[in-house]
Amino acid sequence: MTPEVRLGIMGYPVAHSRSPAMHQAALQHCGLSGSYQLLPTPPEQLTETMQHIRSAQLTGFNVTIPHKETVLAHLDALETSAQRVGAVNCVVREGRGLIGHNTDAGGMARILDGLPLSAGRAIVIGAGGAARASVDALACRGWRILVANRTAERARAAFAGCAEVLPLADMTNREVEDASLLLNATAAGMGRPHESPLPAAIRLPPHLTVIELVYTPLETRLLRQARTAGCTTVDGLALLAAQAADSFELWTGRRLPDEVFRRAAESAAEAPEGAERAAGRVGAATT
Ligand code: NAP
Repeated sequence: MTPEVRLGIMGYPVAHSRSPAMHQAALQHCGLSGSYQLLPTPPEQLTETMQHIRSAQLTGFNVTIPHKETVLAHLDALETSAQRVGAVNCVVREGRGLIGHNTDAGGMARILDGLPLSAGRAIVIGAGGAARASVDALACRGWRILVANRTAERARAAFAGCAEVLPLADMTNREVEDASLLLNATAAGMGRPHESPLPAAIRLPPHLTVIELVYTPLETRLLRQARTAGCTTVDGLALLAAQAADSFELWTGRRLPDEVFRRAAESAAEAPEGAERAAGRVGAATT
């Protein structure tokens, strides 16, 4: 009999995460018995939750804000992209060990590989964990990268030696004209449909491909600006689905199309109570 797949997501808050819905759909798709629990963990409870995770014998779990970096100290080993990025969003149990991965970086790499673009100049807006994962994927593909962040000092500390850095407010149309890719890895626009990370004077040229990581709302102001300008666009659910597909494969060995995860994430957004419902169990053998 196939062992039960026991998964979860550790973060704070996690109540509105779409990951339970995505991974429940994937378990069902594969006919696997399992569960995906919410593991709400305020920062001061990280050690306690990690002890619980070790004794509860989870197959693996996702890690989200605010633990993507602090969790490193609680793991037994890191896969190479997690080492380079310095952040973990997916943990896999191997024997008695917990191994940290960064499927945001791997998912972004797959998105880039699916675009009809050759490596050129990219602008990444942001300097947090999502920006570091994106810069890792771009740098591994030979892109020249300019990072624009609201707090330039944070970007200089994060990207010394691997990207040029500019305060976001100083970004001009010249930098944007020179780029073939612009990627928003900030929280600007998250839950705020009228907010864009772009300084007001910026006009997007139609040759640009714009990748958005914010997915609430699905069409952010930046994506509207890009669509109106005639740019190629990639919305925030693309990475959400890609990182989920990569995480699911690491845990179960089963490769599913990103579309399975994307559809589940879209359905969860349509039913606000969906995340809680999806945190319920799948299959018979549950605890
Ligand atoms: P983080 O580490 O907290 O970094 C947040 C970044 O956003 C910082 O660069 C911050 O600038 C910037 N920022 C926040 N509000 C801003 C505003 N109003 N204007 C301009 N910049 C602003 O967060 P993270 O983990 O990197 O995540 C960043 C975003 O990506 C979040 O919205 C997250 O939900 C999204 N994300 C999506 C996916 C996906 O699968 N689609 C995956 C990962 C992350 P300062 O440094 O100046 O504070």
